[in-house]
Amino acid sequence: MTNPILTDADIDTSAIRGKPVAIIGYGNQGRAQALNLRDSGVDVTVGLRSGSASEAAARTDGFEPLPMTEAAARADIVILLVPDEVQPELWNETLSGAARKGATIGFAHGLAIHYGLIEPRADLDVILVAPKGPGKALRADYERGSGLISLVAVAQDASGTARATALAYAGALGCGRAGILETSFQQETEADLFNEQGVLWGVIPELIEAGFDTLVDAGFAPEIAYFECLTEVKLLADLIYERGIAGMRGAISNTAEFGAAEGSGRIVTAEARAEMKRILAEVQDGSFVRRLMADARAGYPALRASRARAAAHPVEAVAARMRALKSKR
Ligand code: NAD
Ligand code: MG
Repeated sequence: MTNPILTDADIDTSAIRGKPVAIIGYGNQGRAQALNLRDSGVDVTVGLRSGSASEAAARTDGFEPLPMTEAAARADIVILLVPDEVQPELWNETLSGAARKGATIGFAHGLAIHYGLIEPRADLDVILVAPKGPGKALRADYERGSGLISLVAVAQDASGTARATALAYAGALGCGRAGILETSFQQETEADLFNEQGVLWGVIPELIEAGFDTLVDAGFAPEIAYFECLTEVKLLADLIYERGIAGMRGAISNTAEFGAAEGSGRIVTAEARAEMKRILAEVQDGSFVRRLMADARAGYPALRASRARAAAHPVEAVAARMRALKSKR
């Protein structure tokens, strides 16, 4: 299934003009979205819990944050940008009762809606505007006059205008300068969870650590292992991003290209591909999200253990030393 890529020319900006927006949460996405909206002329209020660590940042940026319920109550569009596992309780117990009749609620990731953790009131529109990149990139691209590509979707269309609102919101984030792709909550959510586990964030760092360990265990200097297995990831990513995977091959030596062809299938084996399918199945049947929510309820023991393991890996000490050298130059 391929969809057309929409841009600013396809967007009716009147769908957001004059409509107050509440950004709930001022973290990675919250800060970038609030700033981009304000610079696009949208009336934005930031909503935070009392004593929030983000309050100082919001004030420094010129916002006057309100308690979350007050921000939600004055908005036509309420965007939930607190962590996914926090959204259900926050919405169901606090914000649902505060949101105006006929308001729009929006998300940057579809998890809470797709897995039924939030069942929104029937009078609300429910939209997804998911910029494909971290908040820092969303903001930096906007300031540069370009934008990040964004996915948009509609889960509930009480007003009949939810799609127009989603497109106008994505446009105000600057995403219409790049491209907006319409999708569903299901596709955005499941593909995002799959990638986090099975491709980028789960697998590539583990490969880097495994490669580093292999060289160091064989007696190589940690610095050599670090340069070979870690720093070149940036070069690889930039090349693939700019030229595609086939195009990247044109920029590396024949030796590298020949070796790449020999090595790849020995690590990403048929067994690894079968495991990817099982990861996708556990995303789709909801068992991954049940584990996520259980860990969150217990105070994140599994998440904290994995953070501690990553921090204790020997590659971190080398990386810190090398970054310090670089910043001295
Ligand atoms: P974050 O962790 O950076 O920010 C969370 C914000 O919520 C902070 O202001 C924090 O103080 C506040 N918060 C945390 N716990 C809270 C609680 N219990 N009650 C009230 N407020 C609380 O989150 P993020 O990475 O910006 O993610 C927000 C949403 O954006 C998620 O749905 C995520 O999937 C989505 N998203 C994030 C990125 C990204 O760049 N990190 C990219 C695309 C989509
Ligand atoms: Mg994600």
